[in-house]
Amino acid sequence: MTAPPAGGLRDKLVLLGICSDANSSFLRGTAEAPPLIRAALYNGSSNLTSETGVCFADDPRIADLGDTPFGGDDRAFAAIERHVVSVAGEGGLPLVLGGDHAITYPVVRALARQHGPLDILHFDAHPDLYDELDGNRLSHACPFARIMEEGLARRLVQVGIRTLNAPQRAQVERFAVEVHEMRSFDVSAFEPDLTAPAYVSFDMDALDPAFAPGVSHFEPGGLSTRDALTIIHRLRVRVVGADIVEYNPRNDLREMTAMVGAKLVTEIGGVMLRNAKAL
Ligand code: MN
Ligand code: MN
Repeated sequence: MTAPPAGGLRDKLVLLGICSDANSSFLRGTAEAPPLIRAALYNGSSNLTSETGVCFADDPRIADLGDTPFGGDDRAFAAIERHVVSVAGEGGLPLVLGGDHAITYPVVRALARQHGPLDILHFDAHPDLYDELDGNRLSHACPFARIMEEGLARRLVQVGIRTLNAPQRAQVERFAVEVHEMRSFDVSAFEPDLTAPAYVSFDMDALDPAFAPGVSHFEPGGLSTRDALTIIHRLRVRVVGADIVEYNPRNDLREMTAMVGAKLVTEIGGVMLRNAKAL
């Protein structure tokens, strides 16, 4: 782990790798993702200026605290929460690289402790609202059930969804989740009208597998990379934290999904910095 920069972390974008895949239900491998997304970002094939204008080569508002391995039990989740509190408590804006989607629960818990309940924009093929999966309430299929029942989010807005089944539909009703299913989704008409403090959770399987094959759960019929970027660029709210999760390098083809992950870092991170002073 690299040392925090002089001058503290206030309003800085802080890259934070959380290497944990212990709560994945189907395949392991997402714990290997953070260093590979960084390697793709800095591999020299592209310049480092985001479409938002933020340059990831030398912007002093960007800090990097490296990658940290975590398990997946209650103690590990408490450690993830403390890790994120150490950044948010100094006023930093964590951009977390997962890891499987289970880590979003302790990350959001840390940020809600710091900022109060969040408005969450959640990209995913799956609603991740199961009360439990295979007996595991910390499963990567459950983080948003935990987040909603603890009151950590005021609003949960989901896009990319194409796997809504009966038990999760019941959870959507219970928690008043705003689900935008792929079958009727019109990106040109979608405005992410969140109120601060906001959070973005990006499960890479929200994208169609044609754009991002390096995921554990292939779900055809998803968003294009450009659809996702359009939505991200439309955010006009202060985003106090974000995650990019579920990149599984063991399923990737020629690092193409790692490159998409790197693109998401520069665009989500760019919007976080662009909007850092927004309400
Ligand atoms: Mn997910
Ligand atoms: Mn998913």
